Amino acid sequence: MRCKFYTLKGVQSKLKFLLHDWISAFQQWMKALIHIIMPQYCVICNGLLSPDELGLCTSCLENLPYTNLCGIKGNWFERYCWGQIPVVRASAYLKYLPATDSRIPFVELKYNNRPDIARLLGTMMAKELIDTDFFSTIDYIVPIPLSKERKNQRGYNQSLEIALGISDVTHIPIREDLVVRKISNETQTHLTSEQRRENVKGIFEYIGHDVVDSPHILLVDDIFTTGSTLFSCAKSFENIQNIHFSILVLGVSRQYPYFDTLDNHVDEDALLPLN
Ligand SMILES: [Zn+2]
Repeated sequence: MRCKFYTLKGVQSKLKFLLHDWISAFQQWMKALIHIIMPQYCVICNGLLSPDELGLCTSCLENLPYTNLCGIKGNWFERYCWGQIPVVRASAYLKYLPATDSRIPFVELKYNNRPDIARLLGTMMAKELIDTDFFSTIDYIVPIPLSKERKNQRGYNQSLEIALGISDVTHIPIREDLVVRKISNETQTHLTSEQRRENVKGIFEYIGHDVVDSPHILLVDDIFTTGSTLFSCAKSFENIQNIHFSILVLGVSRQYPYFDTLDNHVDEDALLPLN
């Protein structure tokens, strides 16, 4: 009887493995079929993607302008944020270079209905940091909100999609219910940094009720130019005791003297941003 029981268990285990193999083969087959029926193309080079590639081909992904900051403590981006808000850690994944093809993923995820690109890059950004201590004390992820009008117009918030990619890897909860954007003024392209600061003052409102003292919040945004929007959002949390922030952005724009340095240890004098 005992022997029979083990035999039955063995058969069940074998069937489980076989079922797993069949499901996996079926999924691969479906992926290949979908690829034939609805071929996908790279958003940068327009080349045909393989069934295992999403959004961008391997070659274009390899050639993106990575900052290589990798969440290193005291990196130049983090140091720029010091003194603006209470920052624990900060990192940026890519350099935003408007005159090159590498800007295309940013345009697609923001203006061309490609939230999948935002989520993919959010996932990649988090995978780069998951083996460091960057995420170790973070309580919540807060994507920089869009106004209701802009979100309705676009259909999604690209910062939320990036945050979803980060949460897929880290399993840190996303809180969309803590802060709202009261005023729609997302386009600040032609403003100086002083005008940007004025333009975003008081546009966010903290609406949370259940955040206890001393939270550590990860703010997530797509592109960091002067940081005025992100810092304004952080300041809406000012009534929470002993709050701390970390910052993770997909792209940082080229306006800092240390933007092109491969060495994160830069002179103190170089830490002042150019306007
Ligand atoms: Zn490509």
